[in-house]
Amino acid sequence: MKDSEVIHRAAEIIREGGIVAFPTETVYGLGANAFDPLAVARIFEVKRRPLFDPLIIHIARPSDVRKIVLKIPTKAKHLIDRFWPGPLTVVLLKRPEVPDIVTAGLPTVAVRMPDHPLALRLIEEADCPIAAPSANLFGYLSPTTADHVRDQLGDQVDLILDGGPCEVGLESTILSVVEERPVLLRPGGVPLEEIESIIGEVDRALVEEDKPTAPGMLRRHYAPRTPIVLDWCEDNLDFCRGKRIGLLAFQEPKNFLKFDQIEVLSKKGDFREAAASLFSAIRRLDALNLDLILAEAVPEVGLGRAIMDRLRRASHT
Ligand code: AMP
Ligand code: MG
Repeated sequence: MKDSEVIHRAAEIIREGGIVAFPTETVYGLGANAFDPLAVARIFEVKRRPLFDPLIIHIARPSDVRKIVLKIPTKAKHLIDRFWPGPLTVVLLKRPEVPDIVTAGLPTVAVRMPDHPLALRLIEEADCPIAAPSANLFGYLSPTTADHVRDQLGDQVDLILDGGPCEVGLESTILSVVEERPVLLRPGGVPLEEIESIIGEVDRALVEEDKPTAPGMLRRHYAPRTPIVLDWCEDNLDFCRGKRIGLLAFQEPKNFLKFDQIEVLSKKGDFREAAASLFSAIRRLDALNLDLILAEAVPEVGLGRAIMDRLRRASHT
């Protein structure tokens, strides 16, 4: 089937209340008509996602944000002008028409315009905003290829649109712009520094499991089955003796210790490249039934912040 035919079919499925996995520049999403609570309920069911974890609504035109939110504060307007389409999600006060299941009963809603031709065409043809979390089982790594989706959810979704590997490879940055001083709820594809250069200083949300303003910001998330260890140093690897160990290296390791498998995120130490390969690399290590994965820390600037956030949550036990 041609691309246009597949998109046509996918849009039809969304209009009829079905669920479709589709590529975005961040990760693959599992989408349903945001205004169809029953269709959205199926997403939660398939992902085994708790109902307290709200979804992001995806739109194809910046002006469509008005169908979803009550008002757009000036700072939000500046951010939308600068970063959409792109990996920035803004949280704003929701319109009453947005179903509670999408927002987990919150008075606010998360919305973004993805930067991917297939995603945009799908939303446009379906002619409705699409609510979509990542297309994986709850708690596991987000999918960055159509195969990742097929492996985990294959027979439970109505259609998988294949757009190849995701360019960014990390989820969107989520920023609440409800109060005068915006709050970073999740670091992601748009670096915090770039956001602050547009709207000034931003507060950081505390990552608390029970903090109601930031549901879904669970300490353990984006995690493989194999335990990931982030706090380690080469001089003290006694705990690895007799175990099968994988190394998730940021750059080409200088010192080739005896690892059973090594994944290098970016030979030249480039954040964008590292982000784009992060989840695939962890999945490959996870498939080897290793005892442990040692992950190398990356500097916490730019995209490094989001990479470290994911590694911390993946390694939290
Ligand atoms: P996901 O689509 O799985 O990458 O994650 C969506 C995340 O967005 C949720 O887990 C929340 O942390 C966040 N989110 C969505 N809606 C809201 C909201 N109304 N207020 C605060 N955070 C939200
Ligand atoms: Mg997710």
